[in-house]
Amino acid sequence: MQGVDLHTHSNISDGTLSPEQLVRAAGEIGIHTLALTDHDTMDGLSLAEGAAKDLGIKLVSGVEISSQWSRPATKKNYGVHIVALNMQHPEPLLALLEQQKQIRAVRAKQICDLLIPLIGEDIYADVVAKVDNVPDRVTRTHIAKTLVEKGYVSRAQQAFDKYIKEGKKAYVKFDGLGLEETIQVIHASGGFAVLAHPTRYDLSATNIRYLIEIFAQFGGDAVELPPAVEPLGTRQMVDRMIAEHGLKVSVGSDFHGDNMPWIRLGNIPRVKEGQAGIWESFV
Ligand code: AMP
Ligand code: MN
Ligand code: MN
Ligand code: MN
Repeated sequence: MQGVDLHTHSNISDGTLSPEQLVRAAGEIGIHTLALTDHDTMDGLSLAEGAAKDLGIKLVSGVEISSQWSRPATKKNYGVHIVALNMQHPEPLLALLEQQKQIRAVRAKQICDLLIPLIGEDIYADVVAKVDNVPDRVTRTHIAKTLVEKGYVSRAQQAFDKYIKEGKKAYVKFDGLGLEETIQVIHASGGFAVLAHPTRYDLSATNIRYLIEIFAQFGGDAVELPPAVEPLGTRQMVDRMIAEHGLKVSVGSDFHGDNMPWIRLGNIPRVKEGQAGIWESFV
């Protein structure tokens, strides 16, 4: 499915292009249907609309929600990203995002506080400066970048591995809304709920299958197809789960600009015979 990208980030969260620059970049490579899906915020949408109109690009409202689910068998809570697309009346979702933003702002400060004894410096002011001093836009990507710039690590990935990923001393869980409620609020806003990057949560195959199963049970609409870099067996397993549960598919690059230069805008997986694209349901 050429010309569609339903998972992208701008500098309103942890991308590097402004929403307007993102739309222009999409126009240059022939994208006709684009969703801006920043983390827990839809603040970039209005900034992207003018350029999209100029270029005749269908700009789909979107957001990537930090949600969570649990598996009774393991008694563990897992983070999961739900991409909400094409909201027709976004008010219920916007109310939820206000809570998510608060969680994000508080967590940014908590992570920086936990880093103080580890690096001997409070980097909070520098971190928040990366997002126009709006604390509720801070992601761990910004914290990782700040740690690189200050010389505490040499690459962003190292900041995650050493300090801020799960299990490390400055990790703070994102205590977001549960999976079922997230899907309900998206539907109450007239949008579609998409399970983002199912193979990127460090889950066992059994847990990926369980996650897709409960996502479908809770009324989720579509699953993102994993990128071609994932092992064939994993991609086929996701394809089987999508078919088994009658889910649609979504396609997105998860573009982050220069923060993840190896991901190219518009680079999306191939849709297989018999799979129904969620974009075909957009009004
Ligand atoms: P947050 O929502 O604040 O937890 O930040 C999540 C973002 O950090 C993700 O969208 C990725 O862009 C990035 N990220 C998460 N985990 C890693 C990791 N292990 N290595 C590099 N980047 C990561
Ligand atoms: Mn991100
Ligand atoms: Mn994500
Ligand atoms: Mn993303």
